Amino acid sequence: MVQEQLREVRERIAAACRRAGRDPKDVTLIAVSKTKPAQMVQEAYEAGARDFGENKVQEILEKKPVLPQDIRWHMIGHLQRNKVHQVLGQAVLIHSVDSLRLAQQIETEAEKKGIEAEILLEVNVAREESKFGFFLEETEEAIRQIAKLPHVHIRGLMTIAPFVENPEENRGIFQKLYQFSVDIAAKNIDNVTMDVLSMGMSNDFEVAIEEGATMVRVGTSIFGAR
Ligand SMILES: *Cc1c(COP(=O)(O)O)cnc(C)c1O
Repeated sequence: MVQEQLREVRERIAAACRRAGRDPKDVTLIAVSKTKPAQMVQEAYEAGARDFGENKVQEILEKKPVLPQDIRWHMIGHLQRNKVHQVLGQAVLIHSVDSLRLAQQIETEAEKKGIEAEILLEVNVAREESKFGFFLEETEEAIRQIAKLPHVHIRGLMTIAPFVENPEENRGIFQKLYQFSVDIAAKNIDNVTMDVLSMGMSNDFEVAIEEGATMVRVGTSIFGAR
């Protein structure tokens, strides 16, 4: 079942890329395996998936040792500062940096470990009260502050769009974040590479791809309802 659904999601990604005149190689599918057992991750792995997303540090730490070591784990959920030391070096990319204090903590722990942490800034484009992330108008200043941290490397931006019936309703959100990332890239800020735009989930990943997503985070459409 996982293999079949994965194939279908890949086909939908390819079709969205064709519509947008984009190369499917420029869109990374992150299979969001939160709450799902390692066995299902293994099935997706056997069907070719290598990038997996989790929203809890604990779940990465539990699954990683029992699954193939070439899996790239992505931390996509809200990260507490006291968990930073556990996730650094385990996840290849932290998508959910939503405060300066969290970035500072990542700097401290990355320096201790002698590594450079790859991160995205989470942007609450729709200004939803229930969501984490910087408001759009705060984001450039946050980028400039975080760019000064020598062991933290900003790779781009992430957003969780609102849950809507019709994914078209989120098109404007994705357009805004894409345009913002182009504007930031043009400013050539030291230690900032705007090459990742993590946006789009089961409900709206095709629209996100049409609007420039380079990573889509898809759970339910691959692994079923949680
Ligand atoms: C759960 C989750 C997803 C995947 O959501 P689906 O609707 O199941 O595809 C994507 N991004 C984040 C941050 C999540 O927490």
